[in-house]
Amino acid sequence: MTIYAGTIIDVPGDPFAGDPTEALEADDEGALLVQDGIIRARGALAALRSAWPGEPVTRLDGGLLLPGFVDTHVHYPQMRVIGGLGLPLLDWLERCALPEEAKLADRAYARAVATEFLDGLTGSGTTSALVFGSHFPAAMDELFTQAGRRGLNLTSGLVLSDRILRPDLLNTPEAALAGSSDLISRWHDHGRLRYAVTPRFSLSASDEMLDVCAQLLGKGVWFTSHINENVAEIAQVAGLFPEARHYLDTYRRHGLVTERSVFAHNVHPDDAELATLAEHGASVSHCATSNCALGSGLFPLRRHVEHGVHVALGSDVGAGVGLFLPKEALQAYFVQQLLGPDGMSLTPVHLLYLATRAGARALGLDGQVGDFGVGKDFDAVWLRPADGSPLAVNLAHAVSPSDALARVFALATPADVTGVWIRGAQALASPGSGPSPAR
Ligand SMILES: [Zn+2]
Repeated sequence: MTIYAGTIIDVPGDPFAGDPTEALEADDEGALLVQDGIIRARGALAALRSAWPGEPVTRLDGGLLLPGFVDTHVHYPQMRVIGGLGLPLLDWLERCALPEEAKLADRAYARAVATEFLDGLTGSGTTSALVFGSHFPAAMDELFTQAGRRGLNLTSGLVLSDRILRPDLLNTPEAALAGSSDLISRWHDHGRLRYAVTPRFSLSASDEMLDVCAQLLGKGVWFTSHINENVAEIAQVAGLFPEARHYLDTYRRHGLVTERSVFAHNVHPDDAELATLAEHGASVSHCATSNCALGSGLFPLRRHVEHGVHVALGSDVGAGVGLFLPKEALQAYFVQQLLGPDGMSLTPVHLLYLATRAGARALGLDGQVGDFGVGKDFDAVWLRPADGSPLAVNLAHAVSPSDALARVFALATPADVTGVWIRGAQALASPGSGPSPAR
């Protein structure tokens, strides 16, 4: 057993459901007792020390210990094309993303990208993710193999498309069924790995392909795709599915809107779509920097919340501008500020919730991760800024846990990620100063 001691902050409640400060849990001289990767007790350091005398204490002095971040939308094959600014979605896909994704047909290339991607996730404090995969089964084997070795909580699947995209990314519905079934049998519920059926978007997936997706979803796996990201995309989807009532209907008609479904973006939903999402318990991944970089639009969070649609955060790398979830949370805050009376004023508690527990809920993992409740996995990130840095200066002057969080969301970068634990195992690819040894 190990006792981890420091300033421990998490959001076990739902700040959208009531007073945000009541959703927050914060211990200045706090401690967690961890055994075999599971949190066995939580309390004041002095109390845990006297209850478990002789157990080693790892002191995480300075900074904050937070639950590992949960990224609900991120593209592994786009790790090398972050920063393609100045293009709207469909042009960006054609010129930046898809040529790079085609390169993952080469297994050695995919292996290298998977390593860089998973190093990047861990180095950003992300310990759970719903990952948009590759169009190539061998590239998925590379991702799952490496994520499994690292113990990451990762849900992903083969990307399916049978029209409109460049020919080397297309598969037939028959090949999609065979390839996905094989991957599901080998990787779904394999340790912390799970499978998600992943049509790229209904723009590039025919009704036959979406039928295959429904067949695969029947195996008890997860589902993810894109929706309502960009007005030109939405118009094109409407033209391709003249019988569908709206974009979401292209998925709903095939039974793909479920409690195990996560739709990325939804920047331009109509009320009927929001009602359908809520009715089926599906979640939306809000990708704020991507929406801003591609000029997709300002996310209507208030309408999602008012309709009872569950929302979490996604980095959407490579259209998003990095893997660090606090940056997404800050951008989400900016977007809501810009929406004026239509926006939701987000507190720092909302932001931490969105980056942790909301993602765990969207992925059905809130019994295991997302906060530091007793019985949960010790997935954690220690943000510990360098002495004298603007973040260190500001944390020293924070007057409350919520204020400290505000300073973190304003100023933290991946350079402040000093420790990451995945189910109790230290997991930073190249740890910085690291936690001080037990004493
Ligand atoms: Zn995406």
